Amino acid sequence: MSENVRLRPEIAALTAYSQGRSPSADGFKLSSNENPYPALPGVLEAAAARVEINRYPDGAAVALRTELADRYGVEFGEVIVGAGSSSLLQQLFLAAAAPGDEIVYAWRSFEAYPSFVTITGATSVRVPLTDTLEHDLDALAAAVTERTRVVVVCSPNNPTGPAVPGTAFESFMAAVPSDVLVVLDEAYREFVTDPGAVDGQDYLGRYPNLVITRTFSKAYGLAGLRVGYAIGPERLLAAARATAIPFAVTELGFAAALASLERQDALDERVAEIVARRDRLRGALIEQGWNVPSAQGNFVWLPTGEHTTAATDAFFDADIAVRPFVDDGIRISIGEEESIERILAVTSALRR
Ligand code: PMP
Repeated sequence: MSENVRLRPEIAALTAYSQGRSPSADGFKLSSNENPYPALPGVLEAAAARVEINRYPDGAAVALRTELADRYGVEFGEVIVGAGSSSLLQQLFLAAAAPGDEIVYAWRSFEAYPSFVTITGATSVRVPLTDTLEHDLDALAAAVTERTRVVVVCSPNNPTGPAVPGTAFESFMAAVPSDVLVVLDEAYREFVTDPGAVDGQDYLGRYPNLVITRTFSKAYGLAGLRVGYAIGPERLLAAARATAIPFAVTELGFAAALASLERQDALDERVAEIVARRDRLRGALIEQGWNVPSAQGNFVWLPTGEHTTAATDAFFDADIAVRPFVDDGIRISIGEEESIERILAVTSALRR
């Protein structure tokens, strides 16, 4: 009778992160913003050849951090890696916020933020997106109080798609007190084509309170290996590192990430294909009459409102798994080329 065991009530009330329903083997899984392509050519082979699985991985992640630091032109201590950027977001929240503190973020945004905040014991402050489903950076800055320890900016925003403009981001950084940690979550940065969009890389070393997070899960197609990274001031990252579960990133993950970084040409080609497919799908949806916001990640947002559950079922009947956000909309990941026609048949029927 485990009822007697005292749990933290707010944790007992949480549900574990879930991916939802799966399509059949012939269907399309467009529900988790994954890459439809396998790892870049040669990456898995290169990784497997180097790994000794009887040993613990390098807890300090020296090789991958050195390579990333070199790439971004920062010091070794200004980069850390984690088990996906999910882990790093949680670590950063834990490093900065405790019960009684506040973490501010836009809503709707990445579903994991509220859980990560609850785990720290801090309080979520959600700032609504604009009518065009973009971050309202003025409202985010205005929501900062003396209790705020972290503000999260997600660009491009999951699940709605728009990226934050660079100029607006600079005004936002000027408005947020420098003792508040700003986390710029750029999980989808490689897919951004809007030249005016913020690029965290441009701001490295410029703000004492800015950390950017990126991942090998999306553009690099390594979601199954769990490797993400954060770049920012060494003191902040050292604190975040201290909250990590030891050895959470595996040697296979390090090796695959390093090998992937050597395949920049192949990466660019794939990203270009996914981006072209995304823009084509968005254009066709708009032609069907859907009000699809700017799509800068590897997904598009379909505003299905109160019909979201029925629309999700319609996709599922066509053997397509999408991500529903009840009474709001559906996020469709950009997957295989052959999925596009099938998506458009479903969305066309939904308009009737
Ligand atoms: N940030 C955002 C905005 C995401 O959508 C995701 C994945 N869905 C992540 C971070 C985390 O991805 P990962 O842990 O695989 O790096």
